[in-house]
Amino acid sequence: MKKDKMQEAGKQEFILKSGLEIHQQLDSHKLFCNCPGILRKDKPDYEVERKLHIIAGEGGEVDEAVMFEASKDKKFVYQGYYDNTCLVELDEEPPYEINQEALKIAVQISLLLNCEVLQDSQIMRKIVINGSNTSGFQRTVLLARGGFLDTSFGKVAIDYVFLEEDSARPASSQEESDPELENSVSYKLDRLGIPLVEIVTGIMHSAEQIKECALKIGEILRVCKVRRGIGTIRQDLNISINCNGDESERVEIKGFQDPKIMNLTVEKEVERQKKCLKDNSCKKEVRRSNPDGTTSFLRPMPGAARMYPETDLPLLHIPRGLINEAKSSLPRMKHEIKAELSAEGLSEELVKLILDENKVPDYKELLGVYNNPNLIAKMLVLWKREICSREKISEKDIGKRLTLDVLESILVLVRDKKIDESRAKSVMAEIAGGKDINSVLKLESIDNLEDEIIKLVREKPGLTANAYMGLAMARFKGRVSGKEVMEILNKIVK
Ligand SMILES: [Zn+2]
Repeated sequence: MKKDKMQEAGKQEFILKSGLEIHQQLDSHKLFCNCPGILRKDKPDYEVERKLHIIAGEGGEVDEAVMFEASKDKKFVYQGYYDNTCLVELDEEPPYEINQEALKIAVQISLLLNCEVLQDSQIMRKIVINGSNTSGFQRTVLLARGGFLDTSFGKVAIDYVFLEEDSARPASSQEESDPELENSVSYKLDRLGIPLVEIVTGIMHSAEQIKECALKIGEILRVCKVRRGIGTIRQDLNISINCNGDESERVEIKGFQDPKIMNLTVEKEVERQKKCLKDNSCKKEVRRSNPDGTTSFLRPMPGAARMYPETDLPLLHIPRGLINEAKSSLPRMKHEIKAELSAEGLSEELVKLILDENKVPDYKELLGVYNNPNLIAKMLVLWKREICSREKISEKDIGKRLTLDVLESILVLVRDKKIDESRAKSVMAEIAGGKDINSVLKLESIDNLEDEIIKLVREKPGLTANAYMGLAMARFKGRVSGKEVMEILNKIVK
């Protein structure tokens, strides 16, 4: 009865089923060779032409999407640079062992997404037919699964985390707008092989939840060692609807650059699928996200037949040690740092300034010199600013004069009761005004260097003689000779 009434009113009840796939580049060298993966704007050093040939997947079948692309019989031109692409990108040399740093970053991301990391995994080849991989496949490995994220709409499952290599990028902006339609396509090899994580979420039921989930994953990625800027993160969306009991086919929408159009795109795609359900024209397919929120057909949905094992590489084993190391050095989320700074007694304003100005590492370093959180926070973010506006000194100049070393010297004087805490600000102002630090602080030569160095070794135990040397030279800058310091270190550090 209810269903009929709804239809009478011209309204259709539907349930949205949508999952996110997020691809993020990691900030490390390439995944299966040692090339740096720097994107270049200058002219390439060489060009190579290729055509792709169809082969069957692991199950012996040829994928529908593969057939579709092969039917276009395209020619591919690859542009490379001698100093940042090698024979691995050209598929003329087997891949090297997987990049251990990228592996560790990806494990950290997996742990922050509450996933179980798989210790043994088969690296796979995923057939890619638009020419963006010279080999015709992309290497990918399932790293972790079974995680979750809390959102205000409830838990969202994180189904899988993959570690994979990025593809080559279209060489010109014209092709970037539509590489699928060209008969000859040029790609730059500089992006090919850059490590990527692919995060696949479980099903969500509203556009708002999808957006919140995407933002939360973005927050997690940003505290890890990932690349920043346009093109370093790509979001795809899987959408299907259940309309009055009828299921539409799942559609994959690729290439969200702007999360702001996500809600609009979901809305428009739902309308399109409702219409498809009505005229029975639903297809599984991959579509492209357009800036106006609409989508357009890109290619058929690739199936399972496009995966087969990478036989050039052994089974990937992730030792327990690597997982433990990733765990113990897990980056902390912004809200955790906030809570810690507040617990150290800093006001809300100081916490905000320290986070906004990215001063947490400096704050921590100075805290190691003298445990006085409020004084340090004020020196780092509050007084500098006050001095700037009062003395009419540019931010650039004050940054050059009140370096971390200078602040540390002032702090040491306060700690050692050579000046009173209340003088710290005026000392800063004098130095900011252009006075020489030594004349302001009336630094005298160090009477007993050996005692000072023993003190330094006790403050930071367990380092090498060279590391102490660096610390000593930074602390006693201009007042001691390196030779003298090394002689003392050789006596006291084994
Ligand atoms: Zn390379």
